[in-house]
Amino acid sequence: MWAAQVLQPQFTFIGEDKTTSEQAPFIIEQFYKYMSRGKLMGGKCKRCGKVHLPPRPLCDSCFSKEFEWTEIPQKGKLLTYTVIHVAPTQFQSMAPYVVGIVQLENGLKIPGMIRSIALEQVKIGMPLSMDLETCPASQQWPQWPRYFFKPT
Ligand SMILES: [Zn+2]
Repeated sequence: MWAAQVLQPQFTFIGEDKTTSEQAPFIIEQFYKYMSRGKLMGGKCKRCGKVHLPPRPLCDSCFSKEFEWTEIPQKGKLLTYTVIHVAPTQFQSMAPYVVGIVQLENGLKIPGMIRSIALEQVKIGMPLSMDLETCPASQQWPQWPRYFFKPT
């Protein structure tokens, strides 16, 4: 009895190894390909419709792994912001600068740096557009974001 129990495998890994790791690199790579062409694309969950930006392999709302690409509008308005005086090392030369939460035209809210404007001119509710082109494309994932916002 005792010996038989010891021989029983306690766990089985067979069939459980369906990780999302095959899909993730594809999605992120494709995401940056779109971005290099000036398109911002998110992953829209086919089950619940939630849009993920940047795309992710698993929906954090319904845990579905089925996604389709959807284009994200690059215009929005400023919901809230803060002025950064003490910046992380890579942004020190830019401080002080503004980081805000921008609500895009499709309702998605994303954080981003706001540039091309004097600090005192930044106002809540102001229209902003995303600038993808001037961001260096040499960084590797997961160094997101690679965009900033500027006044329209
Ligand atoms: Zn979902």
